[in-house]
Amino acid sequence: MKTYKIAAIPGDGIGTEVISAGVEVLQALAKRDGSFGFKVDHFDWGGEYYKKHGRMMPENGRDMIGKHDAILFGSAGHPDIPDHITLWGLRLAICQPFDQYANVRPTRVLPGITSPLRHVNGGELDWVIVRENSEGEYAGVGGRAHQGSPLEVATDVAMFTRAGVERIMRFAFKLARSRPRKLLTVVTKSNAQRHAMVMWDEIAVAVAREFPDVTWDKMLVDAMTMRMVTRPQSIDTVVATNLHADILSDLAAALAGSLGIAPTANFNPERAFPSMFEPIHGSAFDIMGKGIANPVGTFWSAVMMLEHLGEPAAATRLMKAIERVTADPRLHTPDLGGKARTADVTAGVIEAIERENV
Ligand code: NAD
Ligand code: MN
Repeated sequence: MKTYKIAAIPGDGIGTEVISAGVEVLQALAKRDGSFGFKVDHFDWGGEYYKKHGRMMPENGRDMIGKHDAILFGSAGHPDIPDHITLWGLRLAICQPFDQYANVRPTRVLPGITSPLRHVNGGELDWVIVRENSEGEYAGVGGRAHQGSPLEVATDVAMFTRAGVERIMRFAFKLARSRPRKLLTVVTKSNAQRHAMVMWDEIAVAVAREFPDVTWDKMLVDAMTMRMVTRPQSIDTVVATNLHADILSDLAAALAGSLGIAPTANFNPERAFPSMFEPIHGSAFDIMGKGIANPVGTFWSAVMMLEHLGEPAAATRLMKAIERVTADPRLHTPDLGGKARTADVTAGVIEAIERENV
């Protein structure tokens, strides 16, 4: 029997609540399937770890997870610690050295869930946003000088490399080609940012020549927000920079009904390092500890993890179980307007996994 080694890093806030639900569901799937298992190692890294040790994860932390088959991540963000420390000390400290340069964020309106967009129901909104995840605006290049004085200066340099842009474009075109509509929108801002974004556009044109079967267009990011709201059916696969896709994908999640549902995968496509799967939401300080976090984003991320591990049947089974549960309003958490708790949704998904003949 194949046993997958999973590194679970719940992190902070509701991250801990949704990851323990996710692990329960994965174990139920393995049991139901019988042909594979999971060995889950838990790492208590995050804000509480920082308070004790002065860092978000141990110095050799990456060595401890570098040989795992996949990483399941909750959220980095603690009410007592500045966000740039938690983010750079944990999430980006894993994504960047593990070269997880392709961040993939599917968006669909799941059965039983209402989009805030009028006239949109299931099927009409089926997007995948590909986010450049290794450079751009989040490259970490920049600095501050003369802190606190009137002369203070601060810069964040958006750094784009030809190699970095080429590989994300190629990844996005390939993904678009694998989907039925073979349709890609390249998001840009080359009207106002006239160096890096112009190179981004040029590389898109060059890579597009390798994919004559993919229809593609180019859209300025501000106009893209409007198109997502007014013409959602015209969109299929999207590729955007680190910052642009960060923002667009929160909008996408909201249009699909709730941030609590949206999944993401941080891929190292070459598989030189483990890839990382996580809900896109953060620690949600306003609801942490209350047992009402929506675990669906984590479950859907687990679906992406199963596909990556090469277990498509289990991935389909879990997705069907999730859809069975979202279709039942009694199993909606408060973010979806319901009264269910994390544990109810988890139990519902596990029951669907055990029952269902898929
Ligand atoms: P957030 O995603 O934590 O919360 C935004 C809103 O959405 C809140 O009202 C929250 O209650 C709600 N929400 C989010 N997930 C939910 C779920 N699963 N179920 C129900 N409701 C949900 O974003 P924020 O408030 O901007 O950030 C809080 C902290 O999380 C910050 O420290 C931030 O840096 C961190 N953060 C981390 C990540 C990450 O690690 N990937 C992502 C985003 C934010
Ligand atoms: Mn974000």
